[in-house]
Amino acid sequence: MSLGLFHYISNEGGMAKQNPRRANGARRDAIRKRWRAIGAPCALCGRPIDYSLGMVLDLRTGKRRAHPMSFVVDEIVPVSKGGSPLDFANTQPAHWICNARRGNATATTPQRTQDMPLPHPWDM
Ligand SMILES: [Zn+2]
Repeated sequence: MSLGLFHYISNEGGMAKQNPRRANGARRDAIRKRWRAIGAPCALCGRPIDYSLGMVLDLRTGKRRAHPMSFVVDEIVPVSKGGSPLDFANTQPAHWICNARRGNATATTPQRTQDMPLPHPWDM
């Protein structure tokens, strides 16, 4: 098969920096695109999400980070409780800050450490 060599090379490249979060990132991205197309409001606070918001420059750190009101995918059933972060039916749209606040609220429970962290926009 003529494409065999290309597949082999690209697999090699993939192996070098392969990690589950990155592999999931592509599937998460598909879910992000689907929610963006729907344009639904934040499931945590009920306010509209500006899906055009992206990265902002944090003047205190000089680093780029997600805009607090930007869109993230939130899991309805947490991964620690058997929910899938890659199943569209288990996801809902949320503001970055709403999701971060909710994450902080449960950060003290031991199971939380086993959660797969949400991919940060700058990792994707
Ligand atoms: Zn919100």
